[in-house]
Amino acid sequence: MYAYFDNAATTPLDPEVLEAMMPFLSQHYGNPSSLHGPGRQVRAAIENARKTVAHLLNAAPAEISFTSGGTEADNYAAFGSIRTLGLRHAITSPLEHHAVLHPLQALEKAGEIELHYLRHDAQGKLDLAHLEELLAAQPRTFVSLMHANNEIGNLNDIEAIGELCAQHEAVFHTDTVQTIGHYRHDVQKLKNHFLVGSAHKFHGPKGVGFLYTRSGLQVSPLIHGGAQERNVRSGTENVYGIVGLAKALEIAIRDLATHQAHVQGLKDRFIAKLRAEIDEVQFNGCSAISDQSLYTVLSVSLPPSAISEMLLFNLDISKVAASGGSACTSGAQAGSHVLEALGADPDRATVRFSMSKMNTAAEVDYAVEQLAKLYRPVTA
Ligand code: PLP
Repeated sequence: MYAYFDNAATTPLDPEVLEAMMPFLSQHYGNPSSLHGPGRQVRAAIENARKTVAHLLNAAPAEISFTSGGTEADNYAAFGSIRTLGLRHAITSPLEHHAVLHPLQALEKAGEIELHYLRHDAQGKLDLAHLEELLAAQPRTFVSLMHANNEIGNLNDIEAIGELCAQHEAVFHTDTVQTIGHYRHDVQKLKNHFLVGSAHKFHGPKGVGFLYTRSGLQVSPLIHGGAQERNVRSGTENVYGIVGLAKALEIAIRDLATHQAHVQGLKDRFIAKLRAEIDEVQFNGCSAISDQSLYTVLSVSLPPSAISEMLLFNLDISKVAASGGSACTSGAQAGSHVLEALGADPDRATVRFSMSKMNTAAEVDYAVEQLAKLYRPVTA
């Protein structure tokens, strides 16, 4: 058995998605910017994909721009809006993904903005009273706070954050990379100006994502050239990726309730088995609280042990794929800025198990058995 539990890093491609993409790899090769028939056919596929994504978010097609993934979309939201609107302040939290933190820190370093960090508690819960204070003190602010944390799984109340931002006329971006395709988003109910998606987090292809920009806001381009994507993001479109993204999102939303129940069941099983098999096991952040964390992510904090440093390596040898920190630094045990910000004990190793619809209860049992074996005291 091989137990793949690194779905917050990336998910396997759904065969139904591959089927939808195949004609655009094998038959429909026209350049979507060309005016002839083969070009127009491919253009139509991109616009249909845009309509599908927009419909699923209750947005307008013109509010969706396709990108190379979540990182690029986060960069667009930060650089594009701060520069276009001439904003001088930004608020974020130390728990954000580097795709948000690094662009904001680059803008701060360049002297374009003053960056303010929101306080949080040891479980990673954001201090919304502090947000209100910061917003009251800084007019015309860019706020970037994620919907769910990729390392510890904490869900943030983006409806409440959006309300506060609206009251203070702030521009609100939320990194929804870990929740698009796993939760429903209705941009008519949310007060956010931007949100982002990445296809490979919901069984779509890698290297494609999207940025939602609320109508009325215009971001400045980061990539200049052929004026594709309404001149926001130039370059010939990743056609089969875009078609795959839309199909993957359609399937994810269609089957959401069934998959959520299945994956939540796997997570509950993980928690119960880990508690039974490993003494002093703990869970980081709100990871073990079902209504406050992603049903797809379980961040496990393990008691200090001589095997801690080689834990992921040993799990890999035992045919269990997991991650030690952020999805994007998957495989690296050290250096999680999120765990550091939470003040986590550096002597305790963290393993993040992230699940998808394709996992089974038998895989959960196998992964826990392998992990427990590594932690069992060696008896002569
Ligand atoms: N934001 C979050 C919360 C993520 O988890 C990730 C990837 O792990 C990204 C952004 C980056 O997405 P992408 O891999 O599509 O660039």
